Amino acid sequence: MIKYFCIIGSVVLGSFTYMLNDKTGYFYYEPIPDQIKEELFQTSFKNATEISIDDLVLVHILHIGFDNQVHKGRLIVNKKIANDIIEIFEKLYLYNYKLEKVELVSEYDYDDNLSMINNNTSAFNYRYIEGTKRLSNHSYGLAIDINPLYNPFVYNVGGKQVISPSIGSKYADRTIHFEHKIDENDLAYKEFIKHGFTWGGSWNNKKDYQHFEKEV
Ligand SMILES: [Zn+2]
Repeated sequence: MIKYFCIIGSVVLGSFTYMLNDKTGYFYYEPIPDQIKEELFQTSFKNATEISIDDLVLVHILHIGFDNQVHKGRLIVNKKIANDIIEIFEKLYLYNYKLEKVELVSEYDYDDNLSMINNNTSAFNYRYIEGTKRLSNHSYGLAIDINPLYNPFVYNVGGKQVISPSIGSKYADRTIHFEHKIDENDLAYKEFIKHGFTWGGSWNNKKDYQHFEKEV
């Protein structure tokens, strides 16, 4: 798999050899840049008392898209998990794990549903847990959703099943095999668990197959 990937990497990015020798050159984090700060303060985040912008960092990664090409991705996470995120995404990249998009939710106007419909892998978003008035761990940058279209959030409201995003309904049946499905054999699952995260697919009353979070 690595050999196959080398071919892709060297075609798309001439510096692939360098990257293998010095992987962290492309995987790093920095304080939230001013432009992103300004955008964030134009959202409900400006009234946030539970989390400060200084608790968050911008992580830069590379990932392999569904087009088999190398792409740059960005994630905002809590600085307490920044090193975990870098190590996990480096591993996913080196093992050719496919992530369709890794863009900030600002690209989707902070609309989680729009981000999920676009199968966008993302972390920080100042928002409530769907169907509740409790702040999601995404609000603290301590949760991340991986390939959400193929790994929907499945829960019940008044005895009725809700699948989010709704266009991911065909992926709610986890007994069938399909690409990009996260289960306990999945590399992302194994890496997140190794780094002390829990998986939403292990929850009892609801199943959030895209979701990993860490208590810090
Ligand atoms: Zn989530």
